[in-house]
Amino acid sequence: MEDMLLLKLGEIVLKGLNRKQFEMKLMGNVTRRLRRFGKCKCYCIQSTLYVEPQEDGFDMDGAMEAVRYIFGIASISRAIACEKDKDAMVEAAKNYLGDALSRAASFKVESRRSDKRFPMTSIEISQYVGGELSEAYPQVPVDVHNPDLTIHVEVRDLAAYVHGPAIPGAGGLPVGSNGRAISLLSGGIDSPVSTYMIAKRGISIYPVHFFSFPYTSELAKQKVLELGGLLTKYCGRMSVIVVPFTHIQEEIREKCPEEYFTLIMRRFMMRIAQQLADMHDAHALVTGENLGQVASQTMEAMAVTQAPIRLPVLQPLMGMDKEEIVTIARRIGTFETSILPYEDCCTVFTPRHPKTRPTLQEIEEAEQVLEVDALVTEAVAGIERIKVGE
Ligand code: ATP
Ligand code: MG
Repeated sequence: MEDMLLLKLGEIVLKGLNRKQFEMKLMGNVTRRLRRFGKCKCYCIQSTLYVEPQEDGFDMDGAMEAVRYIFGIASISRAIACEKDKDAMVEAAKNYLGDALSRAASFKVESRRSDKRFPMTSIEISQYVGGELSEAYPQVPVDVHNPDLTIHVEVRDLAAYVHGPAIPGAGGLPVGSNGRAISLLSGGIDSPVSTYMIAKRGISIYPVHFFSFPYTSELAKQKVLELGGLLTKYCGRMSVIVVPFTHIQEEIREKCPEEYFTLIMRRFMMRIAQQLADMHDAHALVTGENLGQVASQTMEAMAVTQAPIRLPVLQPLMGMDKEEIVTIARRIGTFETSILPYEDCCTVFTPRHPKTRPTLQEIEEAEQVLEVDALVTEAVAGIERIKVGE
């Protein structure tokens, strides 16, 4: 029997006039992600996206797993379509969910009628289908309050659909429906989580990594690429932009006071990221900063860090505890890779006594010895783009 997926849209339905655009974006994202599972047809009616396999051998289990990570989807049901006829619904329920029903401790039928031309109300549909199933499976009692299995019947525009319990989707808004941002991706625990959180708001992500070879090893870079790859499950196709950062760090180390190393370095990251944003028509930067976690994450330090740029810096982890961040990292599957022990470029050049309450004036003075613009231009000219994920 050929089943299909019903993907219920989430917040997207609140978008009023833009709704069509959001739906198209989501449909594009779903179609692209499902291509590798075989041929299927996708269409959207009444805040629901339908995925119908178009060939034998379509990998439904794979598709069902993949859509769980696509933002913009509130819930996912694997369903069977049938004629909009009460007995056809009963037959479909028996054929499709009969095994599950015979194993259940109790059940109920829950119906929805979005096609108001259908002659029965949703309560009547539930009573009829429930009654017939009860007769066919007399050993399974009906329990409308706390059923072991809920059988859903939906009478919609094109057909009726029968399915078991829906599973939750990834929520959020479709990636690409809300603009683009450059996300600063280190090899740590935090930045994969901040990247995920901003992608969830419908932002298309361009990950950027600052790489200081040989102070940080090729393995550290591989780790970041692996993290980028893991995030494509949520963010869709991406290329990690790797920025050569060694020359800048050596210049800072040679010419600036040690207590300012980190801050001056972070100001370079911001400038370079902003240039990359301009090149990609992106309108914000994303970082995994978190108030008070390290010396460069005081309010004063952040003001200094962001002073050279005009774009907003989105910092979704700002108010979270480490434990909360770790919980998300585990859930999205980046934690185990993040804790692999390769150094990142910040740790190699970390000052022994970093300045935690810097003033902009002292940092700007310390920076004057550097050819800031030339160093930024040189770094941007040396970027490498590396495709990650599928
Ligand atoms: P993370 O766990 O993400 O590494 P962190 O707690 O180590 O964060 P910092 O080292 O202060 O914090 O870095 C703050 C943010 O700056 C990171 O979350 C990341 O967004 C960005 N960042 C730091 N180092 C790099 C790097 N080498 N390449 C790209 N972005 C970086
Ligand atoms: Mg770090």
